[in-house]
Amino acid sequence: MILSKYYYRCKNCDSKFKALDIHEGAYAEFILRNGKGDQLRHLNAIDDSSYDEVAQILECCEHVSTLSENQQSDLLQHIFGVACDPANDGSEFQIDNKPKCPSCDSVNTILCGPTNPVETEEIDILPVEHTIWNQITTLEKKKKVELVVHQALSESNFRV
Ligand SMILES: [Zn+2]
Repeated sequence: MILSKYYYRCKNCDSKFKALDIHEGAYAEFILRNGKGDQLRHLNAIDDSSYDEVAQILECCEHVSTLSENQQSDLLQHIFGVACDPANDGSEFQIDNKPKCPSCDSVNTILCGPTNPVETEEIDILPVEHTIWNQITTLEKKKKVELVVHQALSESNFRV
């Protein structure tokens, strides 16, 4: 698929670099990165039944109903990796994970904005998979989501 390039800055070594992500304005499509920020997966949230499943469990979690609609959708994106098979390095794929800095390998990087004019690159990218998620029971799914929601809510971005 064709991805756009964005500028990032490394908070560790201050170098500026470009990394790929979904083009701006794409609806319900996401790129997930593993913990090291060097592997990508694609999610089309509309075609992905696990996304609805996680959303439904999330809505019933403690404190979530007090969040705004935007906060709830941010939270869903923040935790969705819980339903995805991990990378081969054992780390979770997450929508929020940042690309790694090519100079120092840090993933403490921040998005600075799109390239202008927008540069694109066509790459082969695998979809997120839910092999493990699809094998566990509804109760186990609920427990997994509740745990990550609880963790996220204790972080400043989602404090209620
Ligand atoms: Zn760096």
